[in-house]
Amino acid sequence: MLALRKSVPAFVVFFLVVAATIGIGVHQAVGFAVSNAVHRDGEVRLRQWAGYINTHLPDLEEIVATGRLTPEQVHKLEVMRDVGNVFRFRLFGPDGKLILVSDKTTTRSNGDSVGGINLQARTAFQSGESQISVKNGEGETGRPDVYVQSYVRAHGANGQPIGVFEIFVDQTKMATFLKAIFGWAAAGLALLGSLAYLIPAFAFLQRNADATRAEDQISYLTEFDPLTSLMSRRSFTQQLDQALARPYAYLTTDAILFIDIDDFKSINDEYGHEGGDQFIVHVANAIKSQIQGHGYAARFGGDEFTVCLPGITQSSLKKICERILAAARKPALCGYQLINGEISIGVHLSHKTATSAELLRAADIALYNAKNSGKNRFVVFNEKMAHQLNARRELERRLHDAYENKEFKLNYQPIMDSKTPKIVGFEALLRLPDGNGGYIPPDEFIPVTESIGLIGPISKWAMHEALTTAKTWPGELFIAINLSPRQFEDGNLVATIKSAIEQTGFPSHRLELEVTESLFLGNTEAVEVQIKELKALGVSIALDDFGTGYSSIGYLIRYGFNKLKIDRSFLVAHDKDPDRLHGVLETIVSLGHRLGMRVTAEGIETAEQARMLGELKCDQFQGFYFGKPMDCDNVAITLLRSTADTMAEVKQLASGVIAGQSRKTGN
Ligand SMILES: [Mg+2]
Repeated sequence: MLALRKSVPAFVVFFLVVAATIGIGVHQAVGFAVSNAVHRDGEVRLRQWAGYINTHLPDLEEIVATGRLTPEQVHKLEVMRDVGNVFRFRLFGPDGKLILVSDKTTTRSNGDSVGGINLQARTAFQSGESQISVKNGEGETGRPDVYVQSYVRAHGANGQPIGVFEIFVDQTKMATFLKAIFGWAAAGLALLGSLAYLIPAFAFLQRNADATRAEDQISYLTEFDPLTSLMSRRSFTQQLDQALARPYAYLTTDAILFIDIDDFKSINDEYGHEGGDQFIVHVANAIKSQIQGHGYAARFGGDEFTVCLPGITQSSLKKICERILAAARKPALCGYQLINGEISIGVHLSHKTATSAELLRAADIALYNAKNSGKNRFVVFNEKMAHQLNARRELERRLHDAYENKEFKLNYQPIMDSKTPKIVGFEALLRLPDGNGGYIPPDEFIPVTESIGLIGPISKWAMHEALTTAKTWPGELFIAINLSPRQFEDGNLVATIKSAIEQTGFPSHRLELEVTESLFLGNTEAVEVQIKELKALGVSIALDDFGTGYSSIGYLIRYGFNKLKIDRSFLVAHDKDPDRLHGVLETIVSLGHRLGMRVTAEGIETAEQARMLGELKCDQFQGFYFGKPMDCDNVAITLLRSTADTMAEVKQLASGVIAGQSRKTGN
């Protein structure tokens, strides 16, 4: 409507000009038409009157000749005067001399003016052409408002011209009638004309308004974020670029803030996208309210915001950041629910020789550090962060290359039965070559693999690879494979594992899947459903690294794990404080057994540790003391040494190794 209102004054002026032009034109046209019609009607009436005179006044020739009237002739003429709305007439001789006058009150031939010469009458007689004109009698004494004045020849009994009549015909009624008729017709035409103009004009204006409104909306969407009314990413960077381009800009210090909502995905998961949007608006309002008068802000995308605080001091910056954090921490109202969330802020103090992209990148690096150092805080950028980020980027590149070039490897660490002790299975461990003959530690590359979204496809490959290898192993050896909490998020995990089992033909009861306690920080209901579905496939589920995370007996009861793996940190702690930790380990093993789980101890490095855990009735052992992670060829050799007590097993294993090597070489 804004655009339409803008067009209205011009439209109204234009319409008034057109209407005035039409009005003047119509008025003149009506006047001309009425005058013409009155003229023509008067002409008809004159002919009728002249015919009447010739018929009823045969002695007209005598009157012209003598200039005298008998009373009878006067009476006839007065009767004739009223014929055809004639209210006055005069009779002239051929030379234009006035012979008689007949008006409303009298007809005479000897008045004061009789005898005078009328040039118009003489001209009419000589030319033989009637002279007719329409007159306006308004304001003239004894004259109607509209009348016709004419000079026409008078004829004798034989038809010869004998003089000239000047005849006055009252046409007021005719003119009034015609004016009314033409006036209505003109009004109708004017209305039709106006409509003919107005309808397309209004349609044009409406279309123009629609187009302008669309342009306004596009412009608004380009410059502002429709959800939060903050600046858009584009307009923010434009304004920042303009500020950086100003002369002497380097004399002041600007702060660039990069803000991100902590764990935004969990807010979306819990409250839906409507709740997520509501919290985004809440954070936007928190930012706006705290930077008022100090700078400008934008929604940079998703749950990311940027702020520029020109010419800010360090102390003011600290206060503003703390106030934004506090305002964002306040609960946001969504319907009848309160949403609690937090944000992290990365800050870069510009030196004004950098581009806007460089400033924002530095603030983003600081934000990354704020996230990694606990979230719900602000961190100011320093150069060390840049080096860390470069290392991270390098690792990301390495991960992508390794995935593309199929460079990942699987190692297998033996797991022993505590009573025999014999190898009962292997845990598959993912290895990433560093490209220089070594390996990148898993605790370095696994979190990055998860964060860049590669954990799904890599785990799928690892699952298929491990099952294919383990299928060549003899007897009932199981294979344990670690699952990332991220794999439970996309909903494809069960189908992926089912597919791998079917494709490789590996017996599902020999597959053990290891999950960690961090899995239970997310959507526990969805996790529980998937664990039940996995167990329905016939696989075992082990809780890995027990004791390092959010250990909860509630989880152990709720999920019904098949196995509990005690984290290696307990053995490290036991070496330092054996009296205290012995009881703890005893309790964990006992708890596992009471809940129907087998218990595996990880990280065993000495015979003493194995003996102690055997006494505690731990079911299985894993650690360097029994075997380091090894490739599949060394698995075969290890198995040969430890289990080749019957020729049947040796033969089975040998055939498996040969089959595995053939698969690897493509033979
Ligand atoms: Mg594990």
